[in-house]
Amino acid sequence: MSERETDVAIIGAGPAGAVAAALLAEAGHRVVVVEAAHFPRFSIGESLLPQCLMDLERAGLADVIERAGYQMKNGARFVRGDQRVDIDFQDKSSEGTGQAWQVERADFDQRLIEAAGARGAEVHFGQRVTAFERHPTAPVLTIRDDQGTPWRLKARFVLDASGLAQVLARLEGTLEETHLTQRQALYTHLSLKPDACRLYDFDRTKIQIGLHARANVWYWVIPFANGRASTGFVGSSEALTRLTGPDADETQGFQTCFKAFDELDGWLDVETPHRPIAALGGYSRNVTTLTGPGYAILGNAGEFLDPIFSSGVTIAVRSACLAAPLVRAKLDGGDADWQGDFERPLRHGIDTFRAFVEAWYDGRLPAIIFHPEPPAYLRRMISAVLAGYAWDNDNPFVSQPRRHLDTLAQLCGHAA
Ligand code: FAD
Repeated sequence: MSERETDVAIIGAGPAGAVAAALLAEAGHRVVVVEAAHFPRFSIGESLLPQCLMDLERAGLADVIERAGYQMKNGARFVRGDQRVDIDFQDKSSEGTGQAWQVERADFDQRLIEAAGARGAEVHFGQRVTAFERHPTAPVLTIRDDQGTPWRLKARFVLDASGLAQVLARLEGTLEETHLTQRQALYTHLSLKPDACRLYDFDRTKIQIGLHARANVWYWVIPFANGRASTGFVGSSEALTRLTGPDADETQGFQTCFKAFDELDGWLDVETPHRPIAALGGYSRNVTTLTGPGYAILGNAGEFLDPIFSSGVTIAVRSACLAAPLVRAKLDGGDADWQGDFERPLRHGIDTFRAFVEAWYDGRLPAIIFHPEPPAYLRRMISAVLAGYAWDNDNPFVSQPRRHLDTLAQLCGHAA
């Protein structure tokens, strides 16, 4: 079996892998990215948050995205029956941009990994990592190409950015049962009908999130610049089945969900989806550790919560930005405090989002969001977290999210 050597081996070329590769290649290290798929490839996860843009900017990658002509996003519209609430990301307590983008991930991911390549990272597509030999200074990956031919890649450090495949956590036995209820999503891309925004008061600069008044099912509509919109429905399988009936296939399930939300009627062309309707379930993930001897785990390869607050790409990019300086320090012979400077801070933001996800599904957050007269300063704090500023400890909803969500929900009339 042939063997190659590099400084950093990265598993997966999604946002986490691409940003880490770009940062480490920029610092002059030899970086090899091995990606199982061939790009461009579809991925769900199309609505970005302002925090993500701040991190891409710090990584010197914002212009790559700004050039792409994506749909600008400045907030979220929440809908429940006749209620409509706009959260404006400019109006938030944390500093930083209030703007983000809504992106087709095939294009977005390709641009990011090309930027990493332009900085000197070597990227191999159609190469699947199948085994890992743990070692503090010389870990080795076994990789198989599309023809099944194996080769070995010896690195000084490995970053796992393999998304929900969770390559290293599986191989190392560090997967953990998720603390969240497993849910599933049905989704596709639909056309926005001509004049949709004008006639139906639809704001294309916001992700629209609709909560069913009775079933515990919600939808997203994420408009793109090309006149299409990603549209999906999410709930536990029991909640979805109650809405769609037990025998509905994916297409029937999607169509029935669509009809269950009156406000979707008229401006989205549900008859002719642009992609086959897809179902994805069981995506919430936990791991016992994000680091080990000679490796660290980025993005979804570690933890994934839930689609509700579009936090996935933000966490993926943040994990890469936190890890890169530590990998650099290690390769340069210095000290790296992986617990103190990577795992703990990363998990702090993830836990902020986790508290918000829990509060969404148990009704506390809807009680807050749909309250007719929330105090403006509290709404700005909530807006900051929804904009992705989940690491800003000056925000009480970040430093102690559960306590403050509980209190505010009670003030908003939510019965505990
Ligand atoms: P990925 O983007 O998944 O990239 C991992 C890469 O690793 C893939 O390209 C894969 O081919 C490769 N790979 C896998 N196994 C191997 C292997 N063995 N060897 C080599 N390569 C391998 N996030 C948002 O920010 N906004 C949203 O609106 C949003 N909506 C979502 C809706 C749903 C229904 C779901 C489930 C998720 C959503 N997310 C959203 C989350 C988002 O999709 C992910 O968080 C994000 O893609 C994670 O990026 P990543 O780089 O960690 O992994």
